[in-house]
Amino acid sequence: MIVVSYKRKKCIGCNYCVEQAAEYWRMSKKDGKCVLLGAIEKKGILTKRMENEAFEPNEAAAKACPVNIIKVKQI
Ligand code: SF4
Repeated sequence: MIVVSYKRKKCIGCNYCVEQAAEYWRMSKKDGKCVLLGAIEKKGILTKRMENEAFEPNEAAAKACPVNIIKVKQI
């Protein structure tokens, strides 16, 4: 399993994470920031557990994020 998390407040809405991992990320039409599908929010950090197969695209999203707010951890 992996855990993907991000600080949504700092998102600049560039869409790069969606380009890298479209299965997991979307842009919000409401506020122009991205949404990690199914993530749970706690103190401004959104987190979601995923299967290992999600590692590569989400790691690519983390590397592509210009403000470096996406973290991917193996658990
Ligand atoms: S790549 Fe980073 S800044 Fe860009 S939309 Fe995704 S989380 Fe937001």
